[in-house]
Amino acid sequence: MVLTRILTDFIRLFYPNLCMVCHSDLTKGESTICTSCLYHIPRTKYWLDSENPVAKIFWGRAFVQNACSFFFFAKGSRYRKLLHQLKYNGKKEVGFTLGKEFGNELKMIESYKNIDLIVPVPLHLKRFKQRGYNQAEEIAKGLQVSMGIPLSTINLVRYNYTETQTRKTRTQRVENVSKAFRLETPNDFKGKHILIVDDIVTTGATLEECATTVLEVEGTKVSIATLAYTSL
Ligand SMILES: [Zn+2]
Repeated sequence: MVLTRILTDFIRLFYPNLCMVCHSDLTKGESTICTSCLYHIPRTKYWLDSENPVAKIFWGRAFVQNACSFFFFAKGSRYRKLLHQLKYNGKKEVGFTLGKEFGNELKMIESYKNIDLIVPVPLHLKRFKQRGYNQAEEIAKGLQVSMGIPLSTINLVRYNYTETQTRKTRTQRVENVSKAFRLETPNDFKGKHILIVDDIVTTGATLEECATTVLEVEGTKVSIATLAYTSL
């Protein structure tokens, strides 16, 4: 296994234009993942069902209009490594390619047509500096292209740890322990339907916090889309 991986990485060094899933040569017009692998990606099709398992995660926690994921992040699946490449191996193009494909599905669905803005879950500043990009933002850029909906990346921000800890008194610290996000200019979201985007959903805790923060603004609606879904 390790040897195969080393060999694959070595080959890619000289022939970088290979499909990230099946390692076959990419043809003109294809990037990152070949047409066949994109076609066969294990789609959840949750966008066709408003009471799907991802939507159910948020029941009783945040009032969400729609929630779905693009594909199953299953053990043993050859698609599993895509997320790893996106998050830990600097392959941000995976996010864009799959986000675009995901958007092609969502744009066909009536309940996703009235979305005003796409908002990626912000990354910790420290993590952003390490990685050089926010993987959720790369997915959101793909969605933006195929859905034709604008992107907002500067309004919803994440408190960084030191900021939260130093600016508050001890009591505030205890009270705000779960408050990880804020809006820089809440009025910009007023009355808007926001699609919050992340790479994967498991417990939904982070997405719930983002949704709650957005929903504090008058007249907002929230929908959620993640690239991958894994049941615990
Ligand atoms: Zn392929």
